[in-house]
Amino acid sequence: MELKTEEHKNWINQRIKQGQIDKYLADGKNFIDEDKINSLIEKAKSPDKDTVLRILEKSLNIKTLSLKDVACLLNVTDPDLWELMQQTALTVKKKVYDNRIVTFAPLYLGNACVNNCLYCAFRKDNHANQRKILSLSEIEKEVRVLCGKIGHKRLVVVYGEHPSTGIDYMVNSVKTIYGIREKTVKGVGQIRRVNVNAAPLSIEELKRLHEVGIGTYQVFQETYHPQTYRNVHPENTLKGNYNWRLYVMHRAMEAGIDDVGLGVLFGLYDWKFEVMGLITHNLELEAKFGVGAHTISFPRIEPADNTPLTANLKYKVSDEDFKKIITVLRLAVPHTGLIITARENAEIRKQAIALGITQTDASTKIAIGSYSDKTEQQQGQRQQFILGDTRSLEELINEYIQMGYITSFCTAGYRCGRTGECIMDMLRSGKEGKFCKLNAVLTFREWVDDFASEKTKAKAEEIIAKEIQEIKQTLPQVFEQFMEYYNRVKNGERDLYF
Ligand code: SAM
Ligand code: SF4
Repeated sequence: MELKTEEHKNWINQRIKQGQIDKYLADGKNFIDEDKINSLIEKAKSPDKDTVLRILEKSLNIKTLSLKDVACLLNVTDPDLWELMQQTALTVKKKVYDNRIVTFAPLYLGNACVNNCLYCAFRKDNHANQRKILSLSEIEKEVRVLCGKIGHKRLVVVYGEHPSTGIDYMVNSVKTIYGIREKTVKGVGQIRRVNVNAAPLSIEELKRLHEVGIGTYQVFQETYHPQTYRNVHPENTLKGNYNWRLYVMHRAMEAGIDDVGLGVLFGLYDWKFEVMGLITHNLELEAKFGVGAHTISFPRIEPADNTPLTANLKYKVSDEDFKKIITVLRLAVPHTGLIITARENAEIRKQAIALGITQTDASTKIAIGSYSDKTEQQQGQRQQFILGDTRSLEELINEYIQMGYITSFCTAGYRCGRTGECIMDMLRSGKEGKFCKLNAVLTFREWVDDFASEKTKAKAEEIIAKEIQEIKQTLPQVFEQFMEYYNRVKNGERDLYF
């Protein structure tokens, strides 16, 4: 996938629209104030108990924490206070999201890339990586497996940055995915929400993604620390432009996409600084657009084929610190979805659920084309990094049932216009939680009838019965209508939601 033609070279040269950076800068500066972050972390060393308790009270009232509060929580080392923080994080999660967990699958559509990120196996100079871009009919094959055999309703589609997978390809791939229907045991399988993880786009391109109805648009800053950013993203590459990436969510909001996903690739720089960077970014979006991140992701760097940086990390994040990151984020942004992916192993993923995670992937495969093509060799050479948890969706659902969680395949939010500021207000007031409970049961019923084994079904019925009882008690005003929908779903009707 070398860039042969002049046209492709021009594509690179015209990507970054300086005007779409400058318009957001204040006195030529971006909103990441390195000195301020460092000084807040330094000043919050050895926080006293009363201050921490006061901050936890704020979280329990579902309030976004200030940067100063977050710096304080990041510095807690007292084991009793740390224990209390973890318990409070779970309480906050239950208050906002109840016992629901949302699942999705990543779908890598292409691994051609013009960038050279030192941590990624897809980087341009990694000649050991076999390049592949899925055609629309190959995408269809993958999606038929995901929605027809496994039972996913949500995808995050992932692209490298390359002219062959530019905005036209993105738009066509998303349209193709939404158009697929696959017959299942009782109903029909279909992907109902396509989230996108792609390189930063311009406002004009983001408008096109908005028009085809994407869910969340995710771009991870990777590191908020400017010097580290420069070290791992060579200057002569598109990704080398820190501000073009930093302001992509401003552009997304302007383009009408108000469900945006922030993230950091942990292991590149000090984790406390990075959490402060994420919170600064979130506060900036709230201040400018009235709504912060819909989701936050916190991948840790995994080993990647022929990618030496991943084996030699000065800032490698330990499991203990990783749990602190999740706990502090849960407390800091109580209404924001937190995603943990199959980069992490099964044990950590389980522990993370109890700290406030709201979304996980399942049945994950990240080699290009590997849901429908199982050739082992092909998988190794076409994947971005090595996975820690390859369990199936059904295995995860069983684990969640055991933990008292119901897996929700609800995608109603954005299809009813409950996005951005609207959904955040509903989450804050507890209203969205009520819709979600109804939709969780309806969509879980669909999955159980279409995809569960007899053994899983038996366990699933118990949790469904418990949820229905709760709905009867807590939402008597909609119970009758809910039961009507529920029975219609049981009889094979699909995609009924509140
Ligand atoms: N190419 C686009 C970009 O860079 O924004 C989007 C897709 S990229 C394939 C998705 C994310 O994978 C990156 O943002 C990065 O955080 C993560 N990633 C890259 N290399 C990784 C590694 N070795 N281990 C874990 N995550 C990695
Ligand atoms: Fe390309 Fe994204 Fe990998 Fe960087 S992280 S090399 S931009 S695919």
